[in-house]
Amino acid sequence: MISKKERYQEISEKILKCKKCLLCETAIQSVIGEGSLDAKIIFIGEAPGKNEDEQGRPFVGRAGKLLDSCLGSIGLERGDVWIGNLIKHRPPKNRDPLPEEIKACQDYLTQQIEIIDPLIIVTLGRFSFNYFFPNDKIGQERGKLKRLGNYHIFPVYHPAAALRNKKFLSTLQDDFLQLSRHLEEFK
Ligand code: URA
Repeated sequence: MISKKERYQEISEKILKCKKCLLCETAIQSVIGEGSLDAKIIFIGEAPGKNEDEQGRPFVGRAGKLLDSCLGSIGLERGDVWIGNLIKHRPPKNRDPLPEEIKACQDYLTQQIEIIDPLIIVTLGRFSFNYFFPNDKIGQERGKLKRLGNYHIFPVYHPAAALRNKKFLSTLQDDFLQLSRHLEEFK
């Protein structure tokens, strides 16, 4: 039987070569995602930004530093979790991803989640949250553990939003503490 690592490798190779939408023409490279394939908790952002596009790694800019510090506040490091995005190529000038771009990438994320099979999926920001719950509002649902099929989804504000707005920052930090309590409950 094909191992978890091999399945992940296969899908990663497809992402690296992907031309399903036009973003591959403007982006430097794909950003597959990174972290532990045995992670109990995974983080899904929106799309790579400039730094991520340059380095081929998710959340390596200012928002990423904040994510690292939120992880640190609950005793986690990047290597303990998996971090990825809804879409794998940077939209030009960091514009919002289009519905057809999210759709083109959907199969990749579905397979990445299936392979890792986490206990909790943390959605970072509105786009990621609405991917799983299209009719709900992040402002009302953030910080709550929500059931979706076999998964638990925990929505939080996007770290980039928290960098722009102090209120969102303290909410994000509080939500991480709540997340850590949920992780304890699952142990
Ligand atoms: N914002 C995202 O949504 N994803 C990244 O990888 C970086 C910034």
